[in-house]
Amino acid sequence: MRTLIWYRNDLRLHDHEPLYRALQQEGQIIPLYCFDPRQWGQTAFGFAKTGSHRTQFLLESLADLRQSWQALGGDLILRQGLPEAVIPELVQQLEIDAVYWHEEITAEERAVAEILTAKLESLGVRVRSFWGATLYRPDNLPFALSQVPEVFTQFRKRVEQDSAVDPLFPVPKQVSLVEGVPPGELPTLESLGLATPTPDERAVLQFVGGETTALKRLHHYLWGTDCLKRYKETRNGLLGADYSSKFSPWLALGCLSPRKIYEEVQHYEANRFKNDSTYWLVFELLWRDYFRFICAKHGNKVFYPSGLRGLSIEWKQDWERFELWRQGKTGFPFIDANMQELAATGFMSNRGRQNVASFLTKKLGIDWRMGAEWFESCLIDHDVCSNYGNWNYTAGVGNDARGFRYFNIPKQAKDYDPQGAYVKHWLPQLAQIPAKQVHAPWRLQAVEQTRFGVRIGVDYPAPIVDLEKSVRANEEIYNRALNRPPASQRRERWR
Ligand SMILES: Cc1cc2nc3c(=O)[nH]c(=O)nc-3n(C[C@H](O)[C@H](O)[C@H](O)COP(=O)(O)OP(=O)(O)OC[C@H]3O[C@@H](n4cnc5c(N)ncnc54)[C@H](O)[C@@H]3O)c2cc1C
Repeated sequence: MRTLIWYRNDLRLHDHEPLYRALQQEGQIIPLYCFDPRQWGQTAFGFAKTGSHRTQFLLESLADLRQSWQALGGDLILRQGLPEAVIPELVQQLEIDAVYWHEEITAEERAVAEILTAKLESLGVRVRSFWGATLYRPDNLPFALSQVPEVFTQFRKRVEQDSAVDPLFPVPKQVSLVEGVPPGELPTLESLGLATPTPDERAVLQFVGGETTALKRLHHYLWGTDCLKRYKETRNGLLGADYSSKFSPWLALGCLSPRKIYEEVQHYEANRFKNDSTYWLVFELLWRDYFRFICAKHGNKVFYPSGLRGLSIEWKQDWERFELWRQGKTGFPFIDANMQELAATGFMSNRGRQNVASFLTKKLGIDWRMGAEWFESCLIDHDVCSNYGNWNYTAGVGNDARGFRYFNIPKQAKDYDPQGAYVKHWLPQLAQIPAKQVHAPWRLQAVEQTRFGVRIGVDYPAPIVDLEKSVRANEEIYNRALNRPPASQRRERWR
């Protein structure tokens, strides 16, 4: 029996059910990753679908996985092309009996798997897909996927009360591999049409992709530094490697299994500390589960402009202002610093993401999908369900949106960056402005501008919008949408 393992967003050996099931059959294995050219095309609004930071993280993750397979005496096979064409061809060449993979649940990913399944079945090949991205498995949930509670808190409470997390699938020690298959080369960023990103020393962490670094990071955050025991107090931070776990990029590509984190937290609680913080990390992983299950329940709605809620807001596609947001030139330091961090490093804190998304949608009234696509392009931790789910939520079109809620940007800036250290880190032209004025530089008198060495409109932009007026205008738009029937979903475009 020969089984091909099709790697997707599950680039690891630990806790890998397709691999485990294939090994149980005691046959030969061939692990494959396929570079699908569609992933290096453009998003609907014209951004690189997988930008250079994320691609680099992916290439590092694959190089690491390849080394792990080499240590097992084989190799990770790499191919470029459409999986639905490449895999059936390999299957025929190598006389493969079965193909296993981890299931994805959003439209593009499902479409590929469906075509592939049909082709493989017509060749008489056994196909099995497994659910593996979440902490809780759908068959362990106390409700069917079609009945997932719409509100996070209800989801969490029921899951915590009535569900259990399954144990990990073991790491294979010995594998019998199909021999003599040309391994294929790892492409370069250039060959994928991207420039190599310049490492930025201001980044929170020099992220390196792969299961090896993921497991090191897990060890560091728990056992190495005990950061976990303070997580709940530090998690809203903005600067430095350890205010939050930074597990998300490894989780997104599956270099790290959420169950592995869970298991390690259990050990930590049993052997070192157990407090609100240790609970809270698992709580946050539940948000991740929730968005995936909600996307599974609602299908493509999460990509519609009217979102899960079906709310037909008149979104603007104002490219001039969008560009200023994208480049971090809005004149609001807290927004600009975060957007510049994203572009320079491919990462942004959760606090930052909530604020910039709220600013784009509630202050500028701009189509949230433009923001979501820009995030998709840049974020090294891009995860379709978490990204689009969070954008739905912040834009007010999520399933449990409660009225017109928005972030008060100046207050957020003061609360989470009281000394202005974060904005000064990314916007050095503001370095000399005292903490109490740095979040509102547009209020500086001419004499103060001279004293602090910054000319508003020259060294740093004037605000592109009046926060109060714009929020009122966008609230009116939102309220109009509440009185309108949901948009005809068929006319709406999705990702
Ligand atoms: C507009 C917007 C877009 C986002 N896009 C993504 C995305 O593409 N990929 C992504 O992984 N997260 C996304 N998030 C969620 C969150 O910002 C990141 O998961 C978090 O900042 C990652 O840093 P961390 O690993 O240090 O998080 P920690 O605070 O250490 O949290 C631990 C883990 O819990 C999960 N988690 C925490 N908060 C959330 C949340 N709100 N939603 C889903 N999972 C969560 C993540 O897997 C994270 O790694 C988005 C949030 C917003 C507001």
